[in-house]
Amino acid sequence: MTSQKIVLHFPRRMVDQPIVYKLVKDFDLKFNILKAHVTPQEEGLMVLELSGKKENFNRGIEYLKSCGVKIQPLSQDVTRNDIKCTDCGVCVPICPTEALVVDPKTRKVHFYNDKCIACELCVKICPTRAMEVHF
Ligand code: SF4
Ligand code: SF4
Repeated sequence: MTSQKIVLHFPRRMVDQPIVYKLVKDFDLKFNILKAHVTPQEEGLMVLELSGKKENFNRGIEYLKSCGVKIQPLSQDVTRNDIKCTDCGVCVPICPTEALVVDPKTRKVHFYNDKCIACELCVKICPTRAMEVHF
């Protein structure tokens, strides 16, 4: 038995397709969707816990890749170094789950760790390297 939390990035053309259902039907896998989100650019993002026999799990992952789904293990934890953050707001529009939000009154940028799916988009874009990934 294998069980893993993974992040799936769907291309725009696949947002409406039942690929998770196929994982159950064709590969006998069980899933638990932890978060799902469609970005304004209509890229789909889903965090799920996938489990099943190791061989089926690997075949299911290969199937997803063959469909053009990008897969990322959710083994990372993203944090913000508040000393380095300048509240510039560059990360806010890029965050797909609204884990980074500007307070309209104070103009401070808040980081809601419980909404973060560790996609690392903010890590790449932050000019002061305030967003950090821990393995
Ligand atoms: S991009 Fe970096 S410095 Fe700017 S608000 Fe986001 S975390 Fe802070
Ligand atoms: S890694 Fe950054 S951009 Fe991605 S969900 Fe977490 S806070 Fe948002």
